[in-house]
Amino acid sequence: MTSRIGRVVAASAATALATLGVTVANPAPASAAMTICYNTSQAGSFAGIAGQAASIWNNATTNLTLSANCGSNLRIYQITGGGSYAIRTSLGNGRVYIDTQQAQQYSPLRIMTHEIGHILGLPDNYNGNCALLMSGGSAGTSCTNPYPSTAEANRVSNLFAGTRAAERAEGNGSAVFRDSWPAVAATVG
Ligand SMILES: [Zn+2]
Repeated sequence: MTSRIGRVVAASAATALATLGVTVANPAPASAAMTICYNTSQAGSFAGIAGQAASIWNNATTNLTLSANCGSNLRIYQITGGGSYAIRTSLGNGRVYIDTQQAQQYSPLRIMTHEIGHILGLPDNYNGNCALLMSGGSAGTSCTNPYPSTAEANRVSNLFAGTRAAERAEGNGSAVFRDSWPAVAATVG
């Protein structure tokens, strides 16, 4: 019994520390919109699609603006094979890799907006719902929806506003998102 109580006390202490940590990590007040400069110099044939994806995110969100030709917060690369993925170094910063082979099966614009969604702080949500952008490849090749849901867009807006401490902490963290965007089995190899 004492060990059980000990675990409960330890868990409570951990929760308190986690709460304290989040509070300390989020001292900044809401400020001017962040400009995320994206660079398509290595995006190959996906450069135009990157621009479309930027417009979609700009129209759907507040507190951030994706802008071309102003810097390299976000670098976009065209690759062949291995799957599309995103490497977020911090909220609004990182690299996106778009797999040409996957883009022949899935909507390239949906892949692009999804991967950029990771840079903007969103995790994967592979539930097969085409109405969600972060459901990614789980919604199948027939799903071409390139738009974040209202909830997804609002979450990004709130992350950049810094109004949700826990999510901001999550969004600020570095992470690698290796996306399934599962290839059709018969074409693998
Ligand atoms: Zn993903």
